[in-house]
Amino acid sequence: ASRLDTGKIRADFPILRRVLRSGAPLIYLDSAATTQKPLQVLDAERDFYLNHNAAVHRGAHQLAEEATEAYEDARVAVAAFIGARQDEVVFTKNATEGINLVAYALGNGGGIGAGDKIVVTEMEHHANLVPWQELARRTGATLEWFPLTDDGRLDLSGIDELITENTVMVALTHQSNVLGTVNPVRAIADRAHRVGARVLVDAAQSVPHRPVDVAELGADFLVFSGHKMLAPGGIGVLWGRYELLGELPPFLTGGSMIEIVTMDRSTYLPPPQRFEAGVPMTAQAVGLGAAVRYLEGLGMDRVKLHEDELTALALDLLSEIPGVGIIGPSGTEDRGSTVAFTVDGIHPHDVGQVLDDQGVAVRVGHHCARPLMRRYGVPATTRASFYVYNTAEEVEALARGVRAAQKYFA
Ligand code: PMP
Repeated sequence: ASRLDTGKIRADFPILRRVLRSGAPLIYLDSAATTQKPLQVLDAERDFYLNHNAAVHRGAHQLAEEATEAYEDARVAVAAFIGARQDEVVFTKNATEGINLVAYALGNGGGIGAGDKIVVTEMEHHANLVPWQELARRTGATLEWFPLTDDGRLDLSGIDELITENTVMVALTHQSNVLGTVNPVRAIADRAHRVGARVLVDAAQSVPHRPVDVAELGADFLVFSGHKMLAPGGIGVLWGRYELLGELPPFLTGGSMIEIVTMDRSTYLPPPQRFEAGVPMTAQAVGLGAAVRYLEGLGMDRVKLHEDELTALALDLLSEIPGVGIIGPSGTEDRGSTVAFTVDGIHPHDVGQVLDDQGVAVRVGHHCARPLMRRYGVPATTRASFYVYNTAEEVEALARGVRAAQKYFA
């Protein structure tokens, strides 16, 4: 595959031309937290409000029809992007809401109860841990997890003790938001399916960065957030196999998700409408549709290749610096483009401060994965993450900034 033309891409992101308080130009290396938005996405959202705004799925007028069409077109685009059926795509607020929806529904008549086992991993973002803790607490189910190896991978040696006859759900991240590790979801899913368990994949860090096909992955449910893939905030996706969504009770109830309502009881629409109560985030969905088209225009194979190159460079340059420790796999094999590291003797917040003075925006802290931090014995890390608009020069600036922090605090 040919390479991404970052010069051309960067022209679509005016924010990347910003000069910061320090006088330094912005070097944005925090896309794992949220990405910047291209003009194509902003224009799509603006065009919706300027020309087509109305409440979807209601009203007999032309604008309502156009708004509904724009919203449903976004669903079609998202479905194609992940190899799914259109009626299997539920719009949510974000990945967090998608996981909460499934966890709540499963415990509310959806089939999880006392004695059942839920399996997660020690590398989960809090979004894919706390909802399962809550579900276990409410239902009397138990929660167990795959531990991690020293080099940042899942330790699968105990899989036969973890995934057993009473396991009903295996919920795991596709790509770690700290370590960058890409997990062998297919093999774990195959094992889970042999005992009749369901598999939920947190794809918040994978769908934006590599080709993802839900069927190939062997998932039953999969969630991600638009804001991490060039789309506006406030829109995310829950994908589920249709027959499983069909068995799932609703999460939020109210308008737009009902069939027949009397004063005592109601019946519900089939998926995806059953899970989209109320007037949805329509312009945001339209923005997500535009983001998907933008990424498809670049080609997800090329997106992955580009990020692999930047990651390899970052791993090289950072590991050359004495006192820098990478938390996560040391090579780019089965690894995405978040690079978390510690610098001996310097708190990550101080590293982040020196980097910020040079215009380099990174994330510092526990990255919403406190058990993972505990596992590796660090209170916090500095995390750089890359996307389609980042360049090799920016990765070099990161390494220079880390050396500057060492000099400053020496
Ligand atoms: N899972 C992973 C792996 C993430 O990186 C994030 C965001 N940091 C989430 C879930 C939650 O995403 P959101 O806050 O958009 O719901």
